[in-house]
Amino acid sequence: MNTEALKKIGYGVYIICSRKDHEFNGQIANTVFQITSQPPTIAVSINKKNLTHDFIKASRVFTASVLCDETPLAFIGRFGFKSGRETNKLEGVHYKIGITGAPIVVDNAVSYLEAKVVQEMDVGTHTIFVGEVIDADVVSEKSCMTYDYYQQVKRGTTPVAAPSYVEPKKAEPRKEAPPGMAKYQCRICGYVYDPEQGDPDSGIKPGTPFEELPDNWLCPICGAAKTEFDRIG
Ligand code: FE
Repeated sequence: MNTEALKKIGYGVYIICSRKDHEFNGQIANTVFQITSQPPTIAVSINKKNLTHDFIKASRVFTASVLCDETPLAFIGRFGFKSGRETNKLEGVHYKIGITGAPIVVDNAVSYLEAKVVQEMDVGTHTIFVGEVIDADVVSEKSCMTYDYYQQVKRGTTPVAAPSYVEPKKAEPRKEAPPGMAKYQCRICGYVYDPEQGDPDSGIKPGTPFEELPDNWLCPICGAAKTEFDRIG
């Protein structure tokens, strides 16, 4: 079996939010899809370990914000590499309260959907929640982000935690990049710093060598320090 085939399935990138009483949480998901149009229903697959999972179980409602392709890595990182058990992920983020009482993230969103859970399926590590859409709107006419674009263009790598992760090849000494142009990879999340790209979201211009990044520069995805990076070529 060639599991590479699974990587050819196309996805988007979404923020799923829910509530438990008056507490809010949100997380990144790539598995939102429409099931039926009459009535409109959508499904989302959520890891049972995630706080958002507990919240959807409790409140039976969730919201999905469809992210645009200009969404900064750090914005995705705050919802994807941190747990709502340790930090309030919605602090400093623009959101509104929907008719379900759950938060709807509007920063970087092209559209959003609000759903009431009508069915769920236990699939081992995850639960698939099926929700009837009870409200929805388009926020902007920007292009939505595909998961493939996020992985290959925005991140430059597949996350370490992903099932499809492949250990990066260490460069042969003779093939090493010229001084200052070496790529470095975050040990925590797998993000690759490419000096040719820089990190424009954090004000780092293209052409900035890793060695010249300010000491207080942090991984744009998970917030790790420079010392958590390994040279990969
Ligand atoms: Fe990182």
